[in-house]
Formats: sequence, C-alpha cells, structure tokens
Amino acid sequence: MIAIGVPAEGAGEPRIGLTPETVKKLVKAGASVTIRSGAGLRSHFSDNEYKEAGATIAKSDEEAVSGADVVFTVRRPSLSLAKSMKKGAALIGMLDPFSDAEGLDALAKTGVSLFAMELMPRITRAQSMDVLSSQSNLAGYKAVIDAASAFERALPMMMTAAGTVPAAKVFIMGVGVAGLQAIATARRLGAIVSATDVRPAVKEQVASLGAKFIAVEDEEFKQAETAGGYAKEMSDAYKKKQAALVAEHIKGQDIVITTALIPGRPAPKLISKEMIESMKPGSIIVDLAVERGGNVELAKTGETVEHKGVRIMGKLNLAGSLPVNASSLYARNLLAFVEGTLIDKEKKSLAIKWDDELVKGTLIARDGAIVNAMIAERLGGAQAAAAPAPEGTGAKKTGTKRQAKGANS
Ligand code: NAD
Repeated sequence: MIAIGVPAEGAGEPRIGLTPETVKKLVKAGASVTIRSGAGLRSHFSDNEYKEAGATIAKSDEEAVSGADVVFTVRRPSLSLAKSMKKGAALIGMLDPFSDAEGLDALAKTGVSLFAMELMPRITRAQSMDVLSSQSNLAGYKAVIDAASAFERALPMMMTAAGTVPAAKVFIMGVGVAGLQAIATARRLGAIVSATDVRPAVKEQVASLGAKFIAVEDEEFKQAETAGGYAKEMSDAYKKKQAALVAEHIKGQDIVITTALIPGRPAPKLISKEMIESMKPGSIIVDLAVERGGNVELAKTGETVEHKGVRIMGKLNLAGSLPVNASSLYARNLLAFVEGTLIDKEKKSLAIKWDDELVKGTLIARDGAIVNAMIAERLGGAQAAAAPAPEGTGAKKTGTKRQAKGANS
C-alpha cells in the first residue's frame, strides 16, 4: 500500500495539490491518503468531502506527512516539514528549482527525493502532467478579466440608440500558453485583439483565434524557436527593431497583457517608460512576467502602479486567484504523474521508474544530494561566492560578482 500525505500550504497560497476527485482515484489505485485538516478550504474543499472520498484527516502537517511515501505540495515546503518526512520518500510540488539554491540543498540533505513539477518535459506523453500549462492557461484568462474589470470602458462594440460604443483594443505580448488563453478571452469579450511573439510557429495560432499578428519577421525571427519549442534570447539588433514596432503599435492600445519569458533567463524588457507615456490615460497593462523580472519597465511585483493615468498591474499568482480550478487541474497533473511513473498498478505499491524520462526530468534530489546538473552548478557557484578568497588576491570580489550573475541567469 502506498501512503500519500498532503500538508497545508502557507498563508499566501490558496491552492492545494489534492482534491476529493483525485483522492478517489488514488484510493482506487491502492493508495492510502492523509490530508491536514482544513488544507483544502481555500479551494472550497472541506474535510468532510475528503473523508467521504476516502482520505484520513490529520491534525497537523507533521502527522499528514510523517508516514507518507509520497507528499504533494503546491509550493516548496519548509525544511522542518521535509525533516519530518521519511528518508527516501518522494516530495512532489512546484519547488521553484532555480531560486534559493542553498535552501534547496538543505531540503535535499534531508534524504527526501525532490520532484519539481515545473521541469516536466514538454512532450506529448506528459501533457496531462504539465503544471506550467495548466496554471498559465488560467493566469492568461485572469489577466484579461482583471484588466477588463479595472478598465473604465466596455470591451465589445455596442451599437445603441444613443450612439456606438467602440470596441477596446487589446494587445498580447508573448503567445505561449498564457498568451493564447489571453487572446481567446479578450476575443470572447468582444475586443479587437493583436498579438506578438518572436516564434514564427505562433503566427498561425494567433490568426486562428481571430487576432492580428504583429512582429518583426526577419531571418532571426525564423530561427527564434528552440527544439523544445521555447523562445531564444534575441540579439540587440532584433530587440531594437522589435521595440520600434511595439512603440508604434502600443500608442493605440487600451489594454496590454505581457507574458514573454525565456527559460532560465530574466524576462525580456518589452515596454519602456516612454511607451507607457505614449498610451492614453485610462489604459491598463498587466505584466504576467513580473515574478521573473517583468516585461514592463515600471511594473512592481505584487502591486498596481499608476503612471500618467496608465495603470500597470503586477499581481502575483494569478492562477491562485482561481483556486478551485487551479487546484483541480494541478491535482490532476500530480495524479497523472504518480499513476504514470511512481506506482505499480498491478501490485498497488510504490515503484518509482527511475529511468523514465519524466522521472529523470523532474527529479532534482535523491539520497541526500542534488542530482539535477543545472541546479548543482548554480549551487556550486553560490557556495564558491560565499567562500572567503585567499588573502591579498582580490579574487573574492571578482568571484562573487561572476557567481552572482550566474545565479540570476
Ligand atoms: P513561455 O512561458 O516560456 O513564454 C511565453 C511566450 O513568450 C513564448 O511564446 C515565447 O516565445 C514568448 N517570448 C519570449 N521572448 C519574447 C520577446 N522578446 N517578444 C515577444 N515574445 C517573446 O512559453 P510557454 O507558455 O511555456 O510555451 C512555450 C512553448 O511550449 C509553446 O510552443 C507551447 O505551445 C509549448 N508547449 C508544449 C507543451 C507540450 O507539448 N507538452 C505543453 C505546453 C506548452
């Protein structure tokens, strides 16, 4: 029998990685499930619903996880929680693998196997386990809803006896999962939508959603997609051309949603202060990339900033502001991963397929050590930066600078 444990999340996180629906499926697959009392309440799942689905309710986080073979979390948990888990147990969550390398190392040293769901390979087989997609999709939707609600005009065109209300113009920058949903949502609300990206594959998707594609389509643009389907960092020359195009287009826009990201790098800066100043007062910008440095010059993490009548919204965890949907989809992502790679369905026991590419892709620590090469490298850098340099060499200063840059890249 596999034991699954779920602690409560911290105060700032309304989502949870287990729903009554997934409890039923896990129990059917041969697992026993324990959840901390009240852990699902912010997603409107009560203890009673979990109990009826077959879960046991624990009085504390420690009680929920101490006997578990597999623990589900949304965010990276505290070190003390990991210490109360069994050695060799699997901790699965959105562990934010590229920040606070030393904190991650401390978690690894507890001997718990750490799986970061953000690192799930983006292959067809893993689509049902892709947490970035399930959460970004909701964030893209909510960004448009938040912008529409803050915007002091209507989005659709209305022909009334008193005259015509013009349709609002919405511009989406970055057409990945969040951007596509933002286009679809803005179109449903009746806005005139345009979008930009540096990947040529996006052009057709934008058109099929009824939006206009705007981009610098030069030779570099044709090569901008990596084999993994992500964007590359563009050259300075391209960025200049892109900025000129955006500057011209953005003047006439009412709402701009930015979602542009490049894996492992700070978010590209796409909207300058001058561009903000060229927009009409009352316009709204939502910066979905704010957590990774932001696409918009004046955006502030977690805040709404007003500049010359233009509001720039930098709210964090937009998916978490739809916790019922976000938890349901996230819990299904976890269930699919556990069923697909961690459980022997015949024997109804824990059998982690260590050679499976999905396990290899997401596993970041095992047996007390970091096993993901990229994270180990960052950690090596952070430790080298912290270590005192030999006296009189001046090496510490240079080393610190170099390592700090590496840790952010
Ligand atoms: P992302 O969050 O990494 O980035 C968002 C978007 O920003 C991307 O479309 C990117 O091209 C764009 N961008 C980067 N720099 C830019 C710039 N300077 N200007 C304008 N736009 C810029 O992207 P994502 O949502 O994770 O999606 C990335 C890709 O992965 C997409 O092709 C998506 O369809 C694909 N995907 C595949 C799977 C799967 O097969 N399992 C699942 C999800 C997504």
